[in-house]
Amino acid sequence: MSGTGVDHPTSHTSAAGDINEPAELDVVVIGAGLAGLRAATALTEAGRDVIVVESRDRVGGRVWSHAFDDGQWAERGAEFIDAAHTEVLALAAELGLSTATVLIGRDDRTSLLDVGGRPAPLTLHHSLAGDLARWQAALDGLADRVGTGDPVDAIGAEELDDATLADLLRRLDLGVMARVAIGRDVRTEYMVGPEQVSQLMAGWMTSLHRSSGEGYESMRIERGNDQLANGLADRLGQRIQLGRSVTSIDPEAGLVTLTNGAVLRARHLIVTLPLPALGRVWAAMPAELAAVGYGIGGKVSVQFSRRIWNDYGRDGSVRSERAWGELWEATDGQNGDAGVLTALLSSNDGAALVALPDTVGRIVDEIERIFPGAKGLAGQRARTDWTNDHASLGTYATFGPGQLLKAWPCLQRRYGRMVLAGEHTDRWAGYMEGALRSGARAAAHVLRQDIV
Ligand SMILES: Cc1cc2nc3c(=O)[nH]c(=O)nc-3n(C[C@H](O)[C@H](O)[C@H](O)COP(=O)(O)OP(=O)(O)OC[C@H]3O[C@@H](n4cnc5c(N)ncnc54)[C@H](O)[C@@H]3O)c2cc1C
Repeated sequence: MSGTGVDHPTSHTSAAGDINEPAELDVVVIGAGLAGLRAATALTEAGRDVIVVESRDRVGGRVWSHAFDDGQWAERGAEFIDAAHTEVLALAAELGLSTATVLIGRDDRTSLLDVGGRPAPLTLHHSLAGDLARWQAALDGLADRVGTGDPVDAIGAEELDDATLADLLRRLDLGVMARVAIGRDVRTEYMVGPEQVSQLMAGWMTSLHRSSGEGYESMRIERGNDQLANGLADRLGQRIQLGRSVTSIDPEAGLVTLTNGAVLRARHLIVTLPLPALGRVWAAMPAELAAVGYGIGGKVSVQFSRRIWNDYGRDGSVRSERAWGELWEATDGQNGDAGVLTALLSSNDGAALVALPDTVGRIVDEIERIFPGAKGLAGQRARTDWTNDHASLGTYATFGPGQLLKAWPCLQRRYGRMVLAGEHTDRWAGYMEGALRSGARAAAHVLRQDIV
């Protein structure tokens, strides 16, 4: 097996003696998010030579924690861990990381629904509970049809794949408050509107949520989820090459070109890029993959010197019909008087808002409207726009109508020397769990290929 250097096309002579041929590496992993890091550590532990090429100057990809000066933290990307995220929890335990319990958003008396400029506790909207129960029953019906197996094996998969959540909502004929609350929940979950989510996707995701029961979105990693990535990266050391952006790949030949013109050649490529980013470097990417929908938007987190929302008897959770979408406290359970509210800006209007230069000021103004006095307490802030981030170009895969059945086989197959990994390729799509599982699966695939 070859070494781990980056080769320039003209700088090496191959074993066969051809000038201009880069030396052949064993495995090149593209992307140092959880999928790439998991694949690389599994292969390294199996004795293989691996390099990981990453365009950013940090590992973790869409897992990126923000530390405030006083030690509090918030998540710019992946935040919540479910009880059924067994790979995430196993990795946390292996790395000696503790989980923090999520305390907010569980009580309808302390969560607000902001409609028509008037925020009120969910319990005050009398028609809401019945409508929400009907909606949940409809989602459960979809989940029953999808079950816990592969989503493409769902009962009536084609019919579900073609229909949207908007179709389902129309059939239920819900009241106005429920339409606001559910519309917001759909956008928070999928980062796009209900017309862009297939019923197959929704049944699949509901079935995954149900597998955690009360443990759905119940944990975060103490001091930041990005320690999961950093812990894996520590095991890889110099094998990770940061700040190296891939500009093109040739899966058949196993070639990878970097921005500086260097070319790598490998027996195996594991490519973990989100599909919109992958489409920019893989000229022959199948149309079925190019068509897969992605959520759009980002997050804004603002630290307040005091948790003023508690003064109003609230836990900081707000769902709004306005473009900023949804708010929650990111620091529940964390030490200190200060507290951080995170706004999740999702779908078309949220994605447009988070891209504006004065987004944070606008959100602080909205928080002031809901919790008067907050503005004077606002301090440090972090804004993250995942849609305009060149290495993501979106938040995570959300399969729209007609997309999942066509894309699924293309996500699982091998292309010449390349296998795909990343959250979008896994049953736990859209989650850290999916990223880790996909990386392990890609590594196992490479190891199997080499058994003669
Ligand atoms: C706002 C938001 C909220 C989320 N909330 C949750 C949550 O609550 N719970 C949860 O479990 N998950 C959540 N997720 C999803 C989770 O973050 C992802 O599923 C997971 O991190 C994806 O990991 P990955 O390795 O597949 O991809 P990534 O982390 O995107 O890794 C791919 C890597 O490839 C690199 N790359 C891209 N282009 C190139 C190139 N040309 N050359 C070299 N490298 C390149 C990227 O920089 C990146 O590091 C959320 C994501 C977002 C954005």
